[in-house]
Amino acid sequence: MSGIAWTREHRRRFSRQVAEAHRAGKYAHRLDWNGGHPANWRGGRKTHHGGYALVSAPTHPYADSQGYVREHRLVMEDHLGRVLLPTEIVHHINGDTADNRIKNLILFDSLVGHLKHHREQRRKPCA
Ligand SMILES: [Zn+2]
Repeated sequence: MSGIAWTREHRRRFSRQVAEAHRAGKYAHRLDWNGGHPANWRGGRKTHHGGYALVSAPTHPYADSQGYVREHRLVMEDHLGRVLLPTEIVHHINGDTADNRIKNLILFDSLVGHLKHHREQRRKPCA
């Protein structure tokens, strides 16, 4: 986690960004963050050493410095029809970080909730 404090101001700016993305039609094809190449949604895909898949999404608001976003987050965003907040955590139910089927994913609204779940399940954090 980046450790940014998620303020009301961030939230307000973020909502505007999402609204603008909607207007620009960026949500038309599976939350296309790939510069207008919806068919290549999974084109620029690579595996992170942490075991999860990264997808090329250079126009995504939370892409890393190389323009990649973790695939499980994109899958959840696609499912919800909105961009995840940086504070939200996508959990892999079966613990396999490479298994990004929507039925293997659940959303926690914070790191705290996610870690609590792992403590209860006695499993290592998966995100
Ligand atoms: Zn988890």
